[in-house]
Order: sequence, then C-alpha cells, then structure tokens
Amino acid sequence: MAGVTSQCVFCQIARNSTTTTLLHSDNMVVAFQDIKPAAFRHYLVIPVEHIPTVKDLHRKDEDYSLVSHMLNVGQTLLYQDAPQSKHYRFGFHQPPFNSVDHLHLHCLALPFTPRWKCLKYLSLGPLGGFIEAEKLLEKIKPLPSNLNV
Ligand SMILES: [Zn+2]
Ligand SMILES: [Zn+2]
Repeated sequence: MAGVTSQCVFCQIARNSTTTTLLHSDNMVVAFQDIKPAAFRHYLVIPVEHIPTVKDLHRKDEDYSLVSHMLNVGQTLLYQDAPQSKHYRFGFHQPPFNSVDHLHLHCLALPFTPRWKCLKYLSLGPLGGFIEAEKLLEKIKPLPSNLNV
C-alpha cells in the first residue's frame, strides 16, 4: 500500500509536498483548485487519508462524518469565493468515471465553462456517473441501530 499511496498525486497534495496552493487544510481534509476548471469556480476537497473511491465508503459514522466535513468545507469555500453564483454542484465521479483514484469531492460554482462540460457532471443513474454529495450522504448515513447512543 505504501508504494501505491506515495505515487498518488493527491496524497502528495494532501501532505502539502507539491506547489499546489491549498485553499483549506485541517487534519481530515485539504481543498485546492481543480487543475482543469470546468466552471466559474471549481475546487476539489480530498481526505488526507488515501481512500480510493466512493465504493470504499461504508455506512458508518467515520465515513459519514468525513463526507459531511468535505461538503462543509467545499460549501464554505464556494459561498465565500463565488457568492454571486446562482447554482452550485457538489459531488463525486463514481468508478470507472473517476479520473484519479483518491476520493475527491468536486465543488462547482456554475456556470460551466465551456457549457458542454456539464455533460461530465451528469448522473448516469445507478450505473455510475456523477453522484451528488447529498445523495452519497444518504447512502452512507449510519442506520439508527448502528449509532452509539
Ligand atoms: Zn492518495
Ligand atoms: Zn473527478
């Protein structure tokens, strides 16, 4: 595993060992600009820990709070940097449609630039495509019986 993660560019960004400017960093996540922005503002929020894809997230407190935190960070950044935007999108590409095998939340403040880019961020239904962050949260929300209350 060590070999895999040391080659992962997002792991390197998370450790702040690249020239990528971090818009946010804490002990769970970092945020930075997408290198190929598809919208007026296009940020990525990634976990510091190497989690390959949404398929590696499960219905448990740890994963649920991680994704909620990623979404919170993304929303805070976009509302602050693109307050005039009328539409925001927050979501993940599901394999095999993901480009990098390190979980990353796409945070988009629309409009898309160019407009056809929106095709890349359409949900293709249960087979994959783009999944909205809210939808993913529903899928991994711990069941009441699993809560430690
Ligand atoms: Zn990684
Ligand atoms: Zn992606």
